[in-house]
Amino acid sequence: MANEDKFKKVISHAKEYGYIFASSEIYDGLSAVYDYAQNGVELKKNIREYWWRSMVYMHQNIVGLDSAILMHPKTWEASGHVDAFSDPLIDNKDSKKRYRADVLIEDYCEKINKKAQKEIDKAKKRFGESFNEEEFVTTNGRVIGYKNKQKEILERMAKSLDNEDLADVKALIEELGIADPDTGSKNWTDVRQFNLMFGTKLGASAESAMDLYLRPETAQGIFVNFSNVQKTGRMKIPFGIAQTGKAFRNEIVARQFIFRMREFEQMEMQFFVRPGEEMKWYEYWKETRLNWHKSLGLGEENYRFHDHEKLAHYANAATDIEFNFPFGFKELEGIHSRTDFDLKAHEEHSGKKLQFFDPELNKNYVPYVVETSIGLDRMFLAVFSNSLQEETLEDGSSRVVLKLPSILAPTKAAIFPLVKKDGLPDIAKKIIEDLKWDYNVIYDEKDAVGKRYRRQDANGTPFCITVDHQSKEDDTVTIRYRDTMTQERIAISEIGNKIKESISYQSWLG
Ligand code: ATP
Repeated sequence: MANEDKFKKVISHAKEYGYIFASSEIYDGLSAVYDYAQNGVELKKNIREYWWRSMVYMHQNIVGLDSAILMHPKTWEASGHVDAFSDPLIDNKDSKKRYRADVLIEDYCEKINKKAQKEIDKAKKRFGESFNEEEFVTTNGRVIGYKNKQKEILERMAKSLDNEDLADVKALIEELGIADPDTGSKNWTDVRQFNLMFGTKLGASAESAMDLYLRPETAQGIFVNFSNVQKTGRMKIPFGIAQTGKAFRNEIVARQFIFRMREFEQMEMQFFVRPGEEMKWYEYWKETRLNWHKSLGLGEENYRFHDHEKLAHYANAATDIEFNFPFGFKELEGIHSRTDFDLKAHEEHSGKKLQFFDPELNKNYVPYVVETSIGLDRMFLAVFSNSLQEETLEDGSSRVVLKLPSILAPTKAAIFPLVKKDGLPDIAKKIIEDLKWDYNVIYDEKDAVGKRYRRQDANGTPFCITVDHQSKEDDTVTIRYRDTMTQERIAISEIGNKIKESISYQSWLG
């Protein structure tokens, strides 16, 4: 399936099967804001839980937090967001479309990267088993040329953005001949900076109202609570604070469904370490987070690291875990070594100490921070798009199946009576009564069983349980597995165990 078609199918499937709706759809929607429907809310909750357990329950030195969305406005002065949380925008004068200048340049580089990859793939085919990719990449003239060109462009962009030389960013776009992806026009305006924070007001009267921002990241809620958590939790360095919650960004371009939203949810963890030890922990968290992604079985080839050329004002090292979305490899998660920038800035702006007394070193210091930050909605898109598959079956027919990892699936099992009579519905409902305490399960008696199977395949339900006349005699049912479509007969008393085994956190995360 072509990538564009695949992405369209993902969006329409998400709506048709009750995963995602446009926000306020009856009013024609609100740009880049979405609602999670009956199945979407469950999948989202399960992803959040999968992350939370891996962070908080799996690490004795990581605790959770749920800080407020609204924070004292000084927070955002200290963090640098008021001055520096902006993206460079550029308008096309002909199409009137607005773009992020850095993204236009990055997409151009990705095209060069694809050319290099083509050379590598060609050589792989030619040389077969004896192909040594590492050697080829470092010796083949064409590949080196492509890689150097890409590096040169990204370095120049990083330098210009650092120096606020927006004229050079425009010059670069023009020199590279970058055109409006929609219309091909090269008639660009100048590049300008645009602050992404949403402002709002606190207070009843216009005179006394206080200007606030909706938080653009959850991390600052963690930093301002550093001492509270450290003291009340008697935490010792190294330790982490994890939180999930809404963040808001007035994104310049938001045309990629839930990949880039104006209201979204983050899952962030700030890990506080001794100064000087941050690179060790940075490497640790890179590996740990990649393993978390791999544990879901979406395909190891779908992930890659992308180290940042341009570091944010607070970072001394940063990388993205990129995922192969239907529109190509894009950032899914960021891992940043944030130094002591944030805690020091909050010390200065608040006048309060945010330090740790290290008994082993017998001294106070402001800890360094390594952050892992992932968008829950982006993770949702990664899981959902990767799981949506169209299969051709042996008899030539096709089926649409959502092969969600069972631990994340919204509904764990659907229970069907084969027919709506002879007491079979009562047995099926009794099974639901027993399972509902531990699992989200549903009852379905409408249509022929084959049709019900297909409906649950498309819904992502890993197990279908069918009660038939034999069930009345020997208390057994048919269990049918979504991915393989195989069926077997099991005792009713075994259903719970089957589900339990397939969604044990230990087997997924262990
Ligand atoms: P991008 O370069 O795509 O704008 P970013 O580098 O600004 O992202 P971070 O500030 O590092 O992103 O945010 C951490 C994570 O939050 C990202 O990896 C992404 O998963 C998620 N995220 C950021 N912005 C959005 C958004 N507008 N919509 C959905 N998720 C987002």
